[in-house]
Amino acid sequence: MASNKNNHDTCSDGQKMPQLEKGQEISLKIEDMGTDGEGIGRLDGYTLFVKDALEGDLVRVKILKTKKRYGYARLLEVIEPSPWRVTPKCDCARACGGCQLQHCSYEKQLIWKEKKVRDCLQRIGGFAEIPMEPIMGMDKPYHYRNKAQFPVGYDKEGNLVTGFYAGRTHSIIPNTDCAIQHPCNHAILETVLSFMKTYHITAYSEKTHTGLVRHILTRVGKYTGEVMVCLIINGNKLPHSEKLVESLLSCPINGTEEGGAEENVLYDNCQIKSICLNINQEKTNRILGNKIVPLYGQTYIEDKIGDITYRISPLSFYQVNPEQTHKLYTTALEYADLQGDEVVWDLYCGIGTISLFLAQKAAKVCGVEIVPQAIEDARDNARRNGFTNAEFFVGAAEDVVPEQYEKSGGALRADVVTIDPPRKGCDEKLLRTVVQMEPEKIVYVSCDPATLARDLKYLCGEGYELKRVRACDMFGHSGHVETVVGLQRKSM
Ligand code: SAH
Repeated sequence: MASNKNNHDTCSDGQKMPQLEKGQEISLKIEDMGTDGEGIGRLDGYTLFVKDALEGDLVRVKILKTKKRYGYARLLEVIEPSPWRVTPKCDCARACGGCQLQHCSYEKQLIWKEKKVRDCLQRIGGFAEIPMEPIMGMDKPYHYRNKAQFPVGYDKEGNLVTGFYAGRTHSIIPNTDCAIQHPCNHAILETVLSFMKTYHITAYSEKTHTGLVRHILTRVGKYTGEVMVCLIINGNKLPHSEKLVESLLSCPINGTEEGGAEENVLYDNCQIKSICLNINQEKTNRILGNKIVPLYGQTYIEDKIGDITYRISPLSFYQVNPEQTHKLYTTALEYADLQGDEVVWDLYCGIGTISLFLAQKAAKVCGVEIVPQAIEDARDNARRNGFTNAEFFVGAAEDVVPEQYEKSGGALRADVVTIDPPRKGCDEKLLRTVVQMEPEKIVYVSCDPATLARDLKYLCGEGYELKRVRACDMFGHSGHVETVVGLQRKSM
């Protein structure tokens, strides 16, 4: 397997470890995939992580860093490709920090994501029997995103460029034709770059805090076809903005580029409905400032998930893959098995997407979310969609829910609780209160299988039973996977 097979030293536990040095080149069979999709090869018990290498590849690598039991290596050459290796759609896929798995067939990505969930539930959750249902993959795993934030800057030759940051850096990999963004972005980005060149509008530099245009933000309502273009600028106004509006409104966002129409049914129905500026004059990593200046149309677009309409501004949180979100929420609703008379608590509710989905079938839904603006959006979404049975609370779920429980003198009950936390999962204080509320069902939606497994272990130690588990791919070509879990309270 490796060129240095007999070169070992001995670890404290007596196990022989190969001696590898930084800069050394070896060949390696990739046997597995790590949490972010990186390749894993083993050399007599020593583990090497190789970004961009794929399970099944035989590769030549250069050692970058060594620790006692594991190390990191850089992919130099694929000697024999894995049966799952495919040519990435983007030429810059390896350099770009956006996708980690474009070199892996989509079919294998799904197999790996499902395995990642199962492994975490077994290893961290301690579950032996896992009632897993097949992962929900995308029908069309390209051009699926509805939101993009492209940094603007200069290349080494001083040419104006836009694209994405390289992994872990802020150097821009130029690309106006990203394979996972909506196809209309291509024409929009080219139009903005051409406008900036014609009118000598400068790009912002993080180093010197000078220059004007920081990012180009686009959002697409996949169901409505409404498109928003927002320039984030380090200033109060954009010179010749009327010319930008004119060129954007006449740019061919409904082009007939090969593959575009076929991959996205609504590619032909897109229309720019909103052009605006977002003012960010701070020296910060944060992309958006708070102030929005309209240049054309409203400062929001609308989109639908199922029968519910959402209003989306440059600052609103909105799921980036609405087709998969619809599948995910439909599954959550199915696991909740609502009959119409239930009281539901939706924790970490964001702008109320899951809450309103459930409010269609429940007597009452209470949503809890930490970001006040998101709660304003949630209330607004509820009102405009005609819901009168949804109530929203602002604050940390681990504070709000225990407070409400205390306030009720321990009488607060829920029939169903849905939980959709950020990656770090839930505070135990929250889970304890959820158990005290004695919901018949808990539906846990998670973006991190490891913290999901930890939280499920707690809930299943407190009288709940794992009933259904299903992974869903919201972010094709990335290492992320979403999971929905249905728990049932065991009869005492
Ligand atoms: N359920 C929503 C949002 C899920 S994302 C949807 O599907 O669209 C997770 C949400 O949890 C974010 O909106 C984030 O702002 C919120 N959040 C993070 N920490 C929180 C906390 N401690 N308490 C309540 N909400 C929190």
